[in-house]
Formats: sequence, structure tokens, C-alpha cells
Amino acid sequence: MYDTIIIGGGPAGLTAAIYVRRAGLSALLCEAAVCGGQIINSPEVDNFPARPHVSGWQLAADLQAQAEEFGAEIKYAAVTGLTVGEKSKTVHTSSGDIEGRTVIIAAGASHRMLDCEGAARLYTKGVSVCATCDGAFFRGRETCVVGGGNTAFEDALYLSGLASKVYLVNRRSVFRAEPKLIDALRARENVEILTPYLSHRVFGENRVEGFEIKNAESGEIVSLPVSGVFAAIGMVPATEAFRGAVELDSAGYIVTDEECRTSVPGVFAAGDVRAKSLRQLVTAASDGALAASQAASYLATL
Ligand code: NAP
Repeated sequence: MYDTIIIGGGPAGLTAAIYVRRAGLSALLCEAAVCGGQIINSPEVDNFPARPHVSGWQLAADLQAQAEEFGAEIKYAAVTGLTVGEKSKTVHTSSGDIEGRTVIIAAGASHRMLDCEGAARLYTKGVSVCATCDGAFFRGRETCVVGGGNTAFEDALYLSGLASKVYLVNRRSVFRAEPKLIDALRARENVEILTPYLSHRVFGENRVEGFEIKNAESGEIVSLPVSGVFAAIGMVPATEAFRGAVELDSAGYIVTDEECRTSVPGVFAAGDVRAKSLRQLVTAASDGALAASQAASYLATL
């Protein structure tokens, strides 16, 4: 039985692994695909303290190497559930069950997909959730970003340096993005901001040939001649496997106190999977450290 099972190999999970091992406890980290989390798709991260202009991929590789150097074991398997017993916790995975005395859930969140006609069929064929990954394919072409948060404005700014024209479409005329990003985008000549518009239909046979949007007030349909549609409409927490095991909020995020303790003693949550106000690399790392330290304190009481 492991002292701590960490679910998720993003910055929160990897930092938790470093701290658990530094506390002299055994740690198994379960990751479904590749360690690093969302940052592996960021060409440049410039808001992590003391690592300006580092690539997300490099930062992820360094974090994983550091966790492994401290002796964290990594198992590549998808976690499908969690059962909390009196003496131990069982993490169910695609390759069998694992027993732990404590669990840190750092499963992250994934991009919310557009739910209009054609979006799923044309996903990866012009519909994307990652401007920095796919933007270069749209050099000199017209593209559209859907959303009104920081991600949508950052994506539109990035794309405006590549595409001939960028439309930013949001369902409301009020934006969640920071004013400085909104002002920066408004200053770009090849950008048009359209609100309040809902996604109606992405069309094209084998690739995106256009995008229809519907005015939320008048119902008027407008067809945009774009070859790329980037969804930046927020995230969905990866908590389905934990529904019923720990308390979730109405949006599906895990409810914790400030010390990353969930509703279940011995189960902690860290990073984007947790209900909180700021989801950033630095707060994910901070959560990982806090959750690990709380796991160590909990184990000391057993
Ligand atoms: P977000 O702030 O939650 O914004 C999501 C946007 O998508 C909102 O405009 C929302 O509209 C819209 N939306 C949500 N569901 C939709 C749907 N089904 N159909 C159409 N539109 C929909 O998400 P985010 O921009 O990904 O940012 C997530 C977090 O990361 C935020 O805390 C953000 O500040 C942070 N972040 C920070 C930075 C930075 O500091 N540089 C960069 C990126 C992200 P409504 O407003 O109507 O709900």
C-alpha cells in the first residue's frame, strides 16, 4: 500500500509527488496519457516565477524529472473511480486497483467543446481547442475564436498575428477577459468582435468551410467565411470518476478548504480540478505542495 496515490501528472500532481517524497513517504502518481498537463501545449510560459520565457513542454519535462529524481513512481493508467474504506482508499484504474492511505486528486480539467452542429464532426479538421497548437495551420486565412474569457482574447491576439482575419464571437456582450487584453485585441486591425452571438453550425465536407453564428437577440444568422474555428469557452473538470466519492460544486469542481482537504478525510484535491478563483501554473504547484503537506499531517495522526 502506498502512503499517497496522486491522480494526475500535471503541475499540481508532479509538485505533490515532489513534496510527498521529500516528506519521506511513498508516492505513486497515476497519469492517463502524458505528464505535464495543459502546459505541454504552451510554446512559451512567461508567468512562472524565475522561469521567464520557458516552453511549457520544457517546464513539464523538468517537473517530471524532478519528481522521478525524488523517487516518485509513475503509473500510466486512466483512473476510473475511487472507493474510500476505513483503513485505506482504493483507486480503480484501467489496469487494476491500487491501495493508498491517502489520495491527492490532481486530475485537472479539459477544454469545453462547442455543442453546435458540425463541431464534433469537424474537430481536428478546422475545429480546435488550442490556438497555440494549431494556429500555424491557418496562416493567411480567416479564423474565428469563440468565447469571451482570457483564453479567447489571448487566442485571438495570437491568431491575429498569423491569420488574415480573426473574428471573436461571444454569447454575451460583456467579457470575462481582463480589460488590458480586450483593449489590445480591439487595437488589432484584422480583428472583428461580434456579440451577442451563439454558435449555430460549423460546415464543410472534410474540412471547415464556414461557421454560422446566430444573434442571441434577433435570431439573425450570419455566415463567417472561416477555415478555422477555435473554441475557448472554458474548461470542464475531470471529476466524473470521483462523483459520489467527494463533494463537488455545481460546476463539477471538487470542493476543498484552503488546505486542499476535500469532504473526505485523507483525500485531498489540488490544481485545476479544485473549486477556486485562479487556475494558473503557480497556483497548481502551490496546491500540490499544500495537499502533500496535509497528506503527511493526516498520515502522522493515523
Ligand atoms: P472563462 O474565463 O470561464 O471564460 C469562458 C468564456 O466562454 C466566457 O465568455 C463564457 O461566457 C463562454 N462560454 C462558456 N460556456 C459556453 C458555451 N457553452 N457556449 C458559448 N460560450 C460559452 O474561461 P477561460 O478563458 O478558459 O479562462 C479560465 C481561467 O483561466 C480563468 O480564471 C482565466 O482568468 C484563467 N486564464 C488566465 C490567463 C492569464 O492570466 N493570462 C490566460 C488564460 C486563462 P459567459 O461569460 O457568458 O459565461
